[in-house]
Amino acid sequence: MAKIQTPQPVRGTQDIFGEDQERFQHVVETFERVRRLYGFKGVQMPVFEPTAVFARSLGETTDVVSKEMYSFEDRGGDSLTLRPEFTAGISRAFLTNGWQQHAPMKLSAHGPLFRYERPQKGRYRQFHQLDAEIIGAGEAAADVELLCFADQLLNELGISDGVTLQLNTLGDAESRDAWRDALVEHFRAHKADLSQDSQDRLERNPLRILDSKERQDRPIADSAPEIDAYLSDDAKEFFAEVTEGLDACGVAWTRNSRLVRGLDYYRHTAFEFVTDRLGAQGTVLAGGRYDGLIESLGGPATPAVGWAAGIERLGMLLDEAASDPVELAILPMGDEATTKALAVASEMRRTKFSAEIFARGKFKKRMARANQVGALAAIIIGEDELASGKVQFKNLATGEQSALELNDVIEKMWDLRFAEDMDSFEANLDELEQEVAQLGEGD
Ligand code: ATP
Ligand code: MG
Repeated sequence: MAKIQTPQPVRGTQDIFGEDQERFQHVVETFERVRRLYGFKGVQMPVFEPTAVFARSLGETTDVVSKEMYSFEDRGGDSLTLRPEFTAGISRAFLTNGWQQHAPMKLSAHGPLFRYERPQKGRYRQFHQLDAEIIGAGEAAADVELLCFADQLLNELGISDGVTLQLNTLGDAESRDAWRDALVEHFRAHKADLSQDSQDRLERNPLRILDSKERQDRPIADSAPEIDAYLSDDAKEFFAEVTEGLDACGVAWTRNSRLVRGLDYYRHTAFEFVTDRLGAQGTVLAGGRYDGLIESLGGPATPAVGWAAGIERLGMLLDEAASDPVELAILPMGDEATTKALAVASEMRRTKFSAEIFARGKFKKRMARANQVGALAAIIIGEDELASGKVQFKNLATGEQSALELNDVIEKMWDLRFAEDMDSFEANLDELEQEVAQLGEGD
């Protein structure tokens, strides 16, 4: 018989499990917690959209649309695209559901995205993002609130050390057009020295050259005119309101006057949270104001601002991810005891304790495993226990052991959990007190 070839995964996709999955999950859970503090409502969006949703809003000349989209014709002959980002789909939903009546809307989402890129560390063809958008708010306060959310998220993930918020303004349409003309003039003068990619971008999307990663482009990009000389008074005032708001909220930022975003729809505020800990893939969270996007989808003029963050990149920055806790380990000795162990485990889980049965291998190894997963206690069920109806209950921190009825086990477990919660509560309190003391010193 011919040997059957095992199909391989699609290039640039990942099967996420084990510690990577724990990191991933911790990022998503932290996001879900923090977004509630800021009053963002979760939404679920389709993974594919009509191709026009992205082609129109992102701009035909952007890298994403011209090179990176997974587009295909479905069986009915419609051109569909796997979403390469969230913003365009959420904006489409805003229009097709008539959400204008709820504006301003604070929305959040997370899930998989697809881009045909060259896979490398921190860059995949299927990757995952957290996303936050405020639609229908044109005031600088919205930019500030959104950035505070991002800043707090990175703080609560414990990864803000070495991550800086780089901030820029792209001005209003008038400022941006004037700056664009100046950039084209500058780059034309150096055209022969630019990389082929950048030469191609020159007429189509000159802003993108500023962010080129090609070494030969860097000196030319670095000497390009800055936006400041082209900012209208309105644009200057808007940017000043954003920076004053950030200062008032205690969010640290640095100005990067050459920061641009790859997509055409950005206006005013543009920002990236950048780290040097991830090599070339150093941008962990990025976004800005996209006042023109909803109009480009045929909707009414609707100001909006948002950001997205790569879940995999955030996960890589985490120190360590706590694995899902097992509170109670159950060690049955023999087949009959295994049935009993299943019954005890179900009962414990119904009373909301996480329990795991360790049925295989030598007793000593099983006990070591129970300690390794961090269980608070272990239950041992052998022939004697089956006969007496009691189980051996062992406190794994103290080594104390006794024969108990199941009801008493539950009571003991409540005590152990309470003691553990108190410990972590006190540790948090200490930390808070130290922070408050430091704040006091700052005054
Ligand atoms: P880059 O310059 O790294 O290509 P980008 O400008 O294309 O980033 P955005 O479209 O702003 O990225 O996406 C926001 C965030 O999503 C990025 O900062 C990054 O954390 C993450 N991200 C983007 N593309 C990928 C990818 N292919 N694989 C993994 N994460 C990604
Ligand atoms: Mg990209």
